[in-house]
Amino acid sequence: ALPSIQGNVKFENLVFEYEKGRPALKGINLDVKAGESIALVGHTGSGKSTIMNLLCRFYDPVEGKVLIDGQNVRDVTIQSLRSQVGVVLQDTFIFSGTIRDNIRFGRLEATDEEVEEAAKSVDAYDFIMNLPHGFNTEVEERGNMLSMGQRQLISFARALLANPRILILDEATASIDTETELKIQEALKILLAGRTSFIVAHRLSTIRNCDKIIVLDHGRVMESGSHEQL
Ligand code: ATP
Ligand code: MG
Repeated sequence: ALPSIQGNVKFENLVFEYEKGRPALKGINLDVKAGESIALVGHTGSGKSTIMNLLCRFYDPVEGKVLIDGQNVRDVTIQSLRSQVGVVLQDTFIFSGTIRDNIRFGRLEATDEEVEEAAKSVDAYDFIMNLPHGFNTEVEERGNMLSMGQRQLISFARALLANPRILILDEATASIDTETELKIQEALKILLAGRTSFIVAHRLSTIRNCDKIIVLDHGRVMESGSHEQL
């Protein structure tokens, strides 16, 4: 198991292929210190999601390893890994149920107060209270009554409540207005604070908020450094 981990993540010579002879990752080496936020950027098909798939252990590497605090993720139970590595995907995260259930999803034992605190922290509280039944408002699968930005804030509140040491966030590509963007960036800062995070980033504003940028190209790290360095 991974009892109260720090959140150091190391990718060592990571090689992976979905299909034989077509490597999606060709030897990735990255050393991420606990608490750092990493932006992953690169063209479509460059391997961003694949690296995250291996960190979550959706697949096992062909060669190399993923280490969390020095321990190979292969030697950790899936359950323990899931509690320490949170994933925020932008598309499929609203299910049919109340807003409260949707936020609580990450931590079923959380109290109503904790759910509401999480919503307040990411500045989602006001819009939720303006819904017909506040936190008890029923939303449909895929959350059609919510805007893109609102759905993102709900997913942030959920992640904040789940409180994983390591967070993976696949940023939505859909365009949002400037005001919502500012709100999301503020919420993002709160969500990232004190965690190791990997963001598949599409927005410059998000990239600026990360400590380090990793540029991937055809399964390799092309460049890495801070926003100022690159
Ligand atoms: P995008 O920006 O489009 O999300 P990405 O950087 O996340 O791209 P990956 O999804 O990691 O790219 O894909 C890396 C390579 O692996 C690509 O060549 C892609 O075609 C291939 N690939 C990804 N998923 C699969 C899969 N499930 N089966 C087979 N090949 C896959
Ligand atoms: Mg991807």
